Amino acid sequence: MYDYLIVGAGLYGAVFAREAAERGKTCLVLEKRGHIAGNVYTEQVEGIHVHRYGAHIFHTNNAEVWRYVQRFADFNRFTNSPVANYHGEIYSLPFNMYTFNRMWGVVTPAEAAAKIEEQQRAAGITEPRNLEEQAISLVGTDIYEKLIKGYTQKQWGRPCTELPAFIIRRLPVRLTYDNNYFNALWQGIPMGGYTAMVQRMLDHPAIEVRLNTDFLADREAWKRQAARIVYTGPIDAWFDFRFGPLAYRSVRFETELLDQPNFQGNAAVNYTDAETPWTRIIEHKWFEFGKDAAGNDLPRTVISREYSSEWQPGAEPYYPVNDEKNAALLARYQALTREEPNVLFGGRLGEYKYYDMDQVIAAALGKAREEFGS
Ligand code: FAD
Ligand code: UDP
Repeated sequence: MYDYLIVGAGLYGAVFAREAAERGKTCLVLEKRGHIAGNVYTEQVEGIHVHRYGAHIFHTNNAEVWRYVQRFADFNRFTNSPVANYHGEIYSLPFNMYTFNRMWGVVTPAEAAAKIEEQQRAAGITEPRNLEEQAISLVGTDIYEKLIKGYTQKQWGRPCTELPAFIIRRLPVRLTYDNNYFNALWQGIPMGGYTAMVQRMLDHPAIEVRLNTDFLADREAWKRQAARIVYTGPIDAWFDFRFGPLAYRSVRFETELLDQPNFQGNAAVNYTDAETPWTRIIEHKWFEFGKDAAGNDLPRTVISREYSSEWQPGAEPYYPVNDEKNAALLARYQALTREEPNVLFGGRLGEYKYYDMDQVIAAALGKAREEFGS
């Protein structure tokens, strides 16, 4: 018997387990995959930490979370500056003065603001009701057409008119020459990879981890192992999809080891046209330092092309789909959680929330405080 059975060895499960263990509780962590760390898992290929489930850049404005992760890893000073490739035209992201200069030839912030305003006025949008209207009212039609429309429709598999406005508000719009993708006080990549960081979180005598173990395959037996359960798998799966499945977007990664030191000169290149089938290409070595082409200390490189698709049963669920239909379905599942007073539903899948890593850590720390009263 354990005090806690934790389903999922991703960030939420690992942080909760650590918090419980430090308060003297015993924890059994079950993970259905063959490795810990969930979607932030990194594996070493020829000296490069490959982000197997997509590029992960840690960024936060939350001082408590930033201090917390420092206990388990040193972070490098990587700053995310993806570039957009639109039919061979290269633009800076997020939308900033470099982008506006390349798009319109404008040089000053006043000129850029005037150009955006001109396009906003021509579109005549007062209250944006969807992603398309929100994008146009933030950055105008040219940027929407070249840098947003194709990419967003590939990523979400739906027209921008059917997506909520908040998705595009994740991206900063700046009238400065600043290519930093995130408005965050702190940013970086854990040196040694995310897997090592999560390993250190789980490395505690009161925590036991079992890999290749699907809790749902034998749930009644597992439930008897602990008084309390923390469940970070999909909420609809817990309830046997009683009301039908929640929609997710899935992502397929095609990873290649190339016999050249430098493929694209940047960690992330987004292909923002509608025709290129992948959304972006990640070149993993550029998340780290000391691997500059000049030294050629690593003669090879690993790249991953990312293809976005609708989730089908059996595939990995990645992004919750934030539309009205799924919000209503989620509310019905959330109502059922009241029947399970000894189960805490947490994380990206357990709460069906578009969480970043720092938000998942903050949520797990908050849940632990609530659970343990301090
Ligand atoms: P997960 O990491 O999904 O962990 C849940 C775990 O539970 C999984 O390991 C799963 O196998 C296991 N599990 C599920 N069901 C069962 C079961 N029945 N039995 C046993 N185990 C089970 N965030 C950022 O801050 N920066 C980024 O740059 C960033 N990039 C991202 C890119 C992509 C492509 C994606 C999809 C997400 C990105 N995120 C990013 C978000 C980040 O991945 C998540 O916030 C975080 O990993 C969520 O942690 P979690 O523990 O909630 O979920
Ligand atoms: N986006 C876009 N063009 C880009 C990058 C992002 O239109 O080159 C849009 C897209 O709709 C995406 C949203 O901005 O869903 C948020 O981007 P972010 O990088 O935050 O998405 P993530 O991959 O982290 O979920």
